[in-house]
Amino acid sequence: MKFGTKAIHAGQHPDPTTGAIMTPIYQTSTYVQASPGDHKGYEYSRTQNPTRQALDNNLAALENGTYGLTFSSGMGAIDTVAKLFKPGDEVISTNDLYGGTYRIFTKIFEKYGVKFHFVGMTDIAAIEEKINSNTKLIWIETPTNPMLNVIDIEKVSSLAKAKDILVAVDNTFASPYLQNPIDFGADIVMHSVTKFLGGHSDVVMGALVCNDEKLYEELAFIQNSCGAIPGPQDCFLVLRGIKTLHIRMQRHCENAAVIAKYLKTNDKVDKIYWPGFEDHPQHELSKKQMRDFGGMISFTLKDNTTAAANRVVSRTKLFTLAESLGGVESLIGHPASMTHASIPKEEREKTGVVDSLIRLSVGIEDVDDLQADLEEALK
Ligand SMILES: *Cc1c(COP(=O)(O)O)cnc(C)c1O
Repeated sequence: MKFGTKAIHAGQHPDPTTGAIMTPIYQTSTYVQASPGDHKGYEYSRTQNPTRQALDNNLAALENGTYGLTFSSGMGAIDTVAKLFKPGDEVISTNDLYGGTYRIFTKIFEKYGVKFHFVGMTDIAAIEEKINSNTKLIWIETPTNPMLNVIDIEKVSSLAKAKDILVAVDNTFASPYLQNPIDFGADIVMHSVTKFLGGHSDVVMGALVCNDEKLYEELAFIQNSCGAIPGPQDCFLVLRGIKTLHIRMQRHCENAAVIAKYLKTNDKVDKIYWPGFEDHPQHELSKKQMRDFGGMISFTLKDNTTAAANRVVSRTKLFTLAESLGGVESLIGHPASMTHASIPKEEREKTGVVDSLIRLSVGIEDVDDLQADLEEALK
């Protein structure tokens, strides 16, 4: 089955009792048993829920995986992966990554004795240098946030496989429409479903997909033990959102391409970070690993000051100033004072998050209006 068909049908069947074409919202905490242990596969909704199950299966199909698990948030999914490890274990992670992931690794799991190394993963040798007998996981985020570096999943996975190290990929920025890490050898795919998958800025949710049954059982055991599950109503909303994922992603990509090219012509703009440009350092890799270049763009201003960036981000009208990304509406953000504010200036500037860096999540509005909005704000 191809992607658009899976987006609409995978994991979902007409309701056997009524024929309802949409998966019902099974808003129930428990399920009746005829006699102890005699049930229909559902006992308690922390463990299983039919609406959630449909979404788990749908996401597994979209990622070309066998098993899916959905969580109360993207962070709930990352928390579950990190709980696979014990004191003394080591994790190598991308250095340019989602702030919340950096926070849970360093502020929560380091306390429990797991050691984290943060490296620039566009350089495979830098990863290799940190590998030792305690290394259990390589955590990739690609494209990265907000610098849109692209990391070679296949190369990292083959390096890891030879040493029995798990590879997990945060696939939030690309969405399964653009990139399927399992096809390149990754063991776990993680999503903040809040973003492109949900797509309508109305749900916070996370997901993991994997192929290995034993790994799936471990992850499901942690989820059931710790409890980071999504509610059935949210699962319904995401199933509904995913039905248009392929169409939305096509438009996100088309619009972002127009906006990136427009920014190049604007003399207030300095650098533009978008993997679709031929001079992006990983442009060739992006073409190999992704089906298109996505809806995210970052850029800097020639006037490289917070004040200049603030003027732009507060003047746009269609690009709304907010954290998050991946919804149908366009968003604009200033990483240095918003998502990356907790990182010291010197540290963030090393990865390119300078004072004037602006991040766009290009939505699916009419692109002429989006371009006019930026043009006006940049004046
Ligand atoms: C938003 C986000 C997360 C965290 O997900 P939540 O759903 O907000 O908990 C993780 N990784 C990336 C890349 C994100 O954008």
